[in-house]
Amino acid sequence: MYNLISKAVFSHRLNKQEIVSLLSNDDCNEVLFKAADEIRKKFVGDEIHLRALIEFSNICQNNCCYCGLRRDNKNIIRYRLDEDSIFHLAEYAVTQLGLKTIVLQSGEDLWFSQERLCALIRRIKTLDTALTLSIGEKTHDDYLAYKNAGCDRFLLRIETTDKALYEKYDPDMSWNKRKQCLLDIKSVGLETGTGCLVGLPNQTIESLADDILFFKEIGADMVGIGPLIPHPDTPLAQAEGGTFTLACKVMALTRLILPDINIPATTAMETLEPNGQLKALQSGANVIMPNVTLSDVRQHYELYPGKSSTNLASCDALVSFKQKLISIGRTIGQDYGAHKKSAEI
Ligand code: SF4
Repeated sequence: MYNLISKAVFSHRLNKQEIVSLLSNDDCNEVLFKAADEIRKKFVGDEIHLRALIEFSNICQNNCCYCGLRRDNKNIIRYRLDEDSIFHLAEYAVTQLGLKTIVLQSGEDLWFSQERLCALIRRIKTLDTALTLSIGEKTHDDYLAYKNAGCDRFLLRIETTDKALYEKYDPDMSWNKRKQCLLDIKSVGLETGTGCLVGLPNQTIESLADDILFFKEIGADMVGIGPLIPHPDTPLAQAEGGTFTLACKVMALTRLILPDINIPATTAMETLEPNGQLKALQSGANVIMPNVTLSDVRQHYELYPGKSSTNLASCDALVSFKQKLISIGRTIGQDYGAHKKSAEI
């Protein structure tokens, strides 16, 4: 195992069987996490990039079996923020909190047409900020329009590279279409974020290895990895769910294989494990996405139960949060935190 970690550290290449061996064996976890931390430091430095997350609509046309926002869930109160409210949250995050990236996230809410979204993008881009969208599957034309309106990045998790599993748990959706969306996002010049769930029922270690290789194959700029936390109002209510350790191992291996990309310490990790985000930041991650959505609506954006979120709705909260990050020897990113490709890979 030590030799495999060493190989990944020096070459940033592992084959599927080698990744499976590392994921299956827990003897060297701490060595793996430390190696990922060192590679993070070498390639992306000690800066942690803070991205302000605005969950602007929890309305979704899809029915993913693991997600509390699925259309068949009648137990949540649906909301959709209007353009002014979204803009004012973004303005607050940029001007009062000094954050350098706005992430607009929603379910697949068709009310937000290309025209409406582009108007919103153009308005937010008058602020001094990078802008990321995380709004699901769109057409090539949509992605191009977002890019032309000023959008910088787009997040779309592949969720799993196991096509049969994907289509079982994302009914009426097509894995091939999802992959095509990622290729379209990349082709229009948006920084491309993807990622996977860890802990879907019947998900194999082999398919998690495929996920990591897939991130490399498509040239991901950002990868978010989240353990599955079963939501009681979904068909996966009784599922076992994912573990923090396995999700962290997938994340650490992703850092070794794609050393210069941006990797968030996800909120699902914090939900599963006390100080899970800090541990993730010490195992390869370099991004945090604090939630600036106001708490009256944020409580309804429940992708999974008990969702933790870093609440930075006040300057005081931001200061104490930054101190926590500084206490583990890190600094706060002062630029837009784009993917800076390394010539060394
Ligand atoms: S995972 Fe995304 S697309 Fe699926 S139901 Fe939830 S919000 Fe909708």
